[in-house]
Order: sequence, then structure tokens, then C-alpha cells
Amino acid sequence: MTEFPDTTTTSDPSHDAPGEHGDDAAGYYTPGEPIADTKAPGGPISERWSTRKFEARLVNPANRRKLSVIIVGTGLAGASAAATLGEAGYVVKSFCYQDSPRRAHSIAAQGGINAAKNYKEDGDSVHRLFYDTVKGGDYRSRESNVYRLAEVSVNIIDQCVAQGVPFAREYGGLLDNRSFGGVQVSRTFYARGQTGQQLLLGAYQALERQVAAGTVETFTRHEMLEVIVVDGKARGIIARDMVTGEIETHLADVVVLASGGYGNVFYLSTNAMGCNVTASWRAHRKGAYMANPCYTQIHPTCIPVSGSHQSKLTLMSESLRNDGRIWVPKKQADCTKDPRDIPEEDRDYYLERIYPSFGNLVPRDIASRAAKNVCDEGRGVGPEVDGVRRGVYLDFGAAIERLGKEGIEEKYDNLFDMYERITGENPYEVPMRIYPAVHYVMGGLWVDYDLQSSIPGLFVTGEANFSDHGANRLGASALMQGLADGYFVLPHTIRDYLADGPFEKVPADHPAVVEAEQAVQSRIDHFMNNNGTRSVDSYHRELGNIMWEYCGMERTEDGLKKAIDLIRTLKDDFWRNVKVLGSAESLNQSLEKAGRVADFFELGELMCIDALNRRESCGGHFRGESQTEDGEALRHDETFAYVAAWEFAGDDEPPVLHKEDLVYTAIEMKQRSYK
Ligand SMILES: Cc1cc2nc3c(=O)[nH]c(=O)nc-3n(C[C@H](O)[C@H](O)[C@H](O)COP(=O)(O)OP(=O)(O)OC[C@H]3O[C@@H](n4cnc5c(N)ncnc54)[C@H](O)[C@@H]3O)c2cc1C
Repeated sequence: MTEFPDTTTTSDPSHDAPGEHGDDAAGYYTPGEPIADTKAPGGPISERWSTRKFEARLVNPANRRKLSVIIVGTGLAGASAAATLGEAGYVVKSFCYQDSPRRAHSIAAQGGINAAKNYKEDGDSVHRLFYDTVKGGDYRSRESNVYRLAEVSVNIIDQCVAQGVPFAREYGGLLDNRSFGGVQVSRTFYARGQTGQQLLLGAYQALERQVAAGTVETFTRHEMLEVIVVDGKARGIIARDMVTGEIETHLADVVVLASGGYGNVFYLSTNAMGCNVTASWRAHRKGAYMANPCYTQIHPTCIPVSGSHQSKLTLMSESLRNDGRIWVPKKQADCTKDPRDIPEEDRDYYLERIYPSFGNLVPRDIASRAAKNVCDEGRGVGPEVDGVRRGVYLDFGAAIERLGKEGIEEKYDNLFDMYERITGENPYEVPMRIYPAVHYVMGGLWVDYDLQSSIPGLFVTGEANFSDHGANRLGASALMQGLADGYFVLPHTIRDYLADGPFEKVPADHPAVVEAEQAVQSRIDHFMNNNGTRSVDSYHRELGNIMWEYCGMERTEDGLKKAIDLIRTLKDDFWRNVKVLGSAESLNQSLEKAGRVADFFELGELMCIDALNRRESCGGHFRGESQTEDGEALRHDETFAYVAAWEFAGDDEPPVLHKEDLVYTAIEMKQRSYK
């Protein structure tokens, strides 16, 4: 295998060039002023983070006790930030909608967390993790942020080990590593198939320690429904107590959103059912720019959809691609056969065939599209859903021969058990069947190098921000980013903002507070009094179908325009005809969902506009009009090497597009190749 195996290719003139048909999204948006990240220092990339940490002003310990921080979210990004800021001595309030901070969606993460420790001595380094991440993101991420992420990755593992996180170890006692897609080294630390759970327990213990110390107060079963902006600065939130229905106002000097990703806009996804965009979207409507909202990650290894009754899809961790081989029958006629009866020579290990350098470990976007292509050709396996077999095999036969059943159990037993419980098939005996599903969003609220949004005093961490993964996230890098943001980045950057304190107190009857409270109340009143006929879930499912069909694995100009029309029509119908049962003064999941789906409608429309504007293919964003002769994603750097940061301009007003140019000084932009 070659090192750094990129081949530079130029845009293929026989294919559609950007601008050939004018601006696809013309009329759907208003051009705005360019923006830039003003916080990342210049100079050599390896020194930027040290410089910023040094330049960020300090707050002395006595003053920290006078400064308050609201953190929405207790996943890895939020719990780590709350614990660290509490330990530093700030007054922290921590919110989540679950019944315990440790039930945040991060708990679902299975496969592992990356760090450039080079324990395997296989050529890893901070620079290589940086390189892999920028390349994996298809050169659509900000290089200073990514370098910092790679740099602090090594600290995360030490911090978690010190907390007692039980990472897998080799027989000699050293921490073990495995490989994930898009890389040729082993840098993923793991705790069987429960890495997120173990990391979250570590962060949760650190958080609870601060609760006991009196620096952090937790508000569980509280849903943030509005952000309070006073004189242009974030100063608090409105939250609903989900048990009593009480609407509460919480004020602070600074607000942090660590509220996770919005993949559930697609209805079916691997995300927890509660994941939503409300916290981010409410902030967006108050002035926080939404960046690259169309960049969605479709994960290649999920249990296939089995019918229209489903409301959730299940991920089978990418770590399985270390040992499992992906294939479909060469002949359509074999697709209904028992896979064990199909001889080796009749199997098409298509990833190994098309991408010999990376094989089954190509990045997620590439593996997903390849699976779609073979199923579209009619070579999918498993039951037909809507007339098509959408499944490919993930086969452990060879690995079991090599490592024995015990060897496989040691690495993946809970994943194999989960698969068997859901499908009724034993993957030790029959190959797993998998298919791509929505999994993660690279888009999110725009932040600068300090993780501050376009609203001063509103910081955003973890999956909720857009910052590090460009157009495609590499596996095992979300946990790394969440913990990097919370333990190591935000605590340094937020102090520069807080150093301006103490801040003037905001009175409870300030017009901005009253306006936010009223906005929340009137939305709730609308839902409770709207005597419609259709359930919230049915709208959500229909919206999800539109998004998957037209803004999913492949997007086209016609499809996206159609999707925008369909979403607008459905949204109008939703506001007129939705039926919310129960009362607003008690636990009411229908009411909770109504608010979330209302925000998904607006987000879905913006995602389609963003996808329409970007007439290039990059990472998880594949525009049918922009592909190479052999069907690979084709970027157009001369036109689209920018972050699309969208500003909310008002209901029924087209959003405003601000472009942040992506400038690479430490890495050369190339057309990706994993062949
Ligand atoms: C099945 C699955 C497996 C994965 N496996 C891996 C893996 O192996 N490695 C990896 O790197 N990544 C993995 N990921 C991705 C990773 O788990 C997530 O990106 C990451 O955990 C997100 O962390 P977070 O802290 O940003 O948000 P979350 O963990 O989603 O937490 C969000 C928090 O915000 C709160 N919240 C949200 N909205 C509101 C609101 N309005 N009011 C109050 N509170 C609110 C929630 O209560 C929650 O506490 C996986 C994802 C899935 C779906």
C-alpha cells in the first residue's frame, strides 16, 4: 500500500461545469457579505492553538465564581464542558431533555474514538490525522480547526484513562487500537462495541463530581425552546419542564449549545428518537448562522429497512469493516440464494475490487454510494421493500476461520448479539445484511475558531457545530471532536469572552426575555388549540421520505427544486392540520414532537437550498450533475471551496448566504482517490 496515495485529477470538461446553467439556487436565497474566521492566529499551523491559548485572556479564580454559564446538552460535548468549567469555578447550569445526563445520545456510540497516539508504530502522527481528516472531509473543512483537533486528540485518551474508562487493552496491558474507514493506520481506541457509553460514564462522573461540589446544577427533562438575546448577546434560554409543563426562564452570562445532530430530519436514521434541531434552529432564527446544512453522513453499515412500520434504524458499527468483507452476488439470479451456497468465484467483493488500496475501509460516503449502486443494478440481497432488494452482505466467514469464533466474540460480541436480536439471523453462521442509513450531520451552527457562533456569547460544541469534518466525517472522529471541544478547547476560548465580565444583570422583565417567553407560549398554544386531524408522526414520516428521496444519497437540481415545493406545501398543511393530544401542563410527547417537527420543516427546506446551491459533489453531498466518468464525486474547488453560512432573514424571506473562503496553507487540495 502506498502512503498518501492521492492522485491529482482536474475537472472533467465533458461533465457539467458549475455555472453552466447559471446559479441553480437563484431566487431561493439572497447573496450576503463574505465572512471570515477572525480568531485563528496566523503562522505555522502547528503553533496556532498554542498561540490562541496564550492570547486568550484569563479570568482570575475569584472572578469565575461571579460568572455564569448555561450549557444545553449533556452528551460528550456538553458533559465534558460542564465538568471542566465547573471545575474551573464558573457557575454552571446544565440542561438535557432525558431523565439523566448519562442518557444523552452519545451513549449509543459503538465503534471507538480516534487519537494520534501512534501506539501501533504504524506511521501515525498528529499531521497524518490532520491530513486524513481534511482529505476525508473532501477539503471542505477549516484547516486550523482540524489541526487543533488532531493535536488535542492525544490528551483525550489520557484524560479518559485517568477517569477509569475501560478501553480495550492488548495482552501486554497497552491500550489496543483498530482501524476505521478512510485511513491506513490503526488509531481507534475502543471499549468493545460500547465506546460512547463508557466515555459518557467518564464524563458523567466528572459532571456529578461538580454537582456535588456545588459548581454545576443539572436540569433534566428540560427542553430548551428559545434563546434569549439581549443587546445582540446571548444571555439565557427559555426551557419547558417536560414533566410539569412549566415554562422557565434561565439567565446567564454566556450560553453553550451542545445539543447534538439533526439527522432525524430524515425520520429514519440511526440517531436516538429524541435527537432534534430545536436548540440550534431557535438560535439560528435569532441570528446564529447555519453552516453547510446539506452535509449529511449516510453510514454504510446499518441494518436494512424492513418495511414501512419502522421508526428507527440500527447501526452496525463501522469497526466491523476491520474483519467483515462486503460483497453481493455477481449474478442477479443468485440474489435470492442462501449466501452460503454462492461459491467464492460468484461473489463480487466490490469495494476490494474498485478500491484496492483501502478495500472495505474506504470512507463512509464512498462505501455507501457503492452499496447503493450495486443495489440499483439489481444485485441487492434480502427481502424486497417497494420492489427493490436494498442490502449487501457483510461476511465474517474468513475472519472466523482466521481468528476463531472467540476472537470475533472478543471484539464484537455485543454487536453480533444485537444483530441477531433484531434480524433473527445468527451472523456467526450467515453473513450480516447491511445497507446505508442517515447517521450524522457534518452541517451545524457556524462557529469561529473559538467555537463562538455569529451571536456573541453563544458558543456551540460537538455535533451541533459544523466545524471540523467538512463534507464527510471519518469514523470515530465525532467522539474525539465532542470531547476535544468540551475538555480542551472551549474552556480556553470561552474565558476570552468571559474576561469582559462581570456583565450587567438582565432583569426578568427585560423586553427580550418577555418576547422569548411569549414566543414559546404562543407556539405551545397554537399546537394545543389547533384542532387538526393528522398526527405529528405522520407529517414527520412524510417529510423524512421527501428528504431521503431528494436530499439523500444523491441530489439533483430537479429533485431538490421539487423537494422544496413539497416541503413548503406539507409545512403549510402541518400548521393548519396537525393534531396534538393531551395537555400542555404535563408530560406530552406529542407536544414535544410537534415543536421539533415544526423546526425540521424549516431546516429541511434550508438543507435543500444549500444542496441546490452547491452544484458540485463533495463527501456526503453527491450531486448527480457533478461526477467523474467512473461515477466518483467531482468537486469544483474554483467555485465552491467555501463554507456556506446561512443567515435567517425572516419567515417567508429567502435566507442570506454568507461565504467563508476555505484557505489551505498546510495541505494541498486534491481530488480524492482511495483506489
Ligand atoms: C448509533 C451511533 C453510533 C455512533 N458511533 C460512533 C463511534 O463509534 N465513534 C464516533 O466518533 N462517533 C459515533 N457516533 C456519532 C456520535 O455518537 C455523536 O456524533 C456524538 O455522540 C454527539 O455528541 P454530542 O455531545 O454533540 O451530542 P449528543 O450526545 O447527541 O447530546 C445532545 C444533548 O443535547 C441535549 N439536547 C438537545 N436538544 C435539547 C434541547 N432543545 N433542550 C435541552 N437539551 C437538549 C440532549 O438532551 C443531550 O443531552 C455514533 C452515532 C450513532 C447514531
